[in-house]
Amino acid sequence: MRKMLLIFMPLVVIIILGIIYFSNSKKGVESTEQPTPAVKSMVQHGVDFSDGKAVEIIDYEGNYLLINKLRIGEPHPKHADGPGCPEKHWHTDEPVTAVNNGVVLTDPVAGGCGFGTLNERPVANYFPHDLLAE
Ligand SMILES: [Zn+2]
Repeated sequence: MRKMLLIFMPLVVIIILGIIYFSNSKKGVESTEQPTPAVKSMVQHGVDFSDGKAVEIIDYEGNYLLINKLRIGEPHPKHADGPGCPEKHWHTDEPVTAVNNGVVLTDPVAGGCGFGTLNERPVANYFPHDLLAE
């Protein structure tokens, strides 16, 4: 009987150590996996919002265009290339990507008021709060 005990005791110890090791290693896996979903991309359509700051946009028919991608056109008379525009207005020389939906737009009236006048399309702040949700 004593001999049996000598054989079984180390086995029991090994099994217990094995269980402890297994449960610890399982916990270790969980704790390294858990932060992963929390690290969510804060980049939306090429704009990084991870600093938590809003960006300045104009709302063109539901497409939010960054004003730093646009230029302001001075009032200009009717000319060969277009109808002109009586007020300051928004233009772009290159296609711009709307930060809220990724729609790419070119200047709709390059020879006129472009995306509209500053009065029609006032500058607004935009921050995609849905990036912070969940
Ligand atoms: Zn213009």
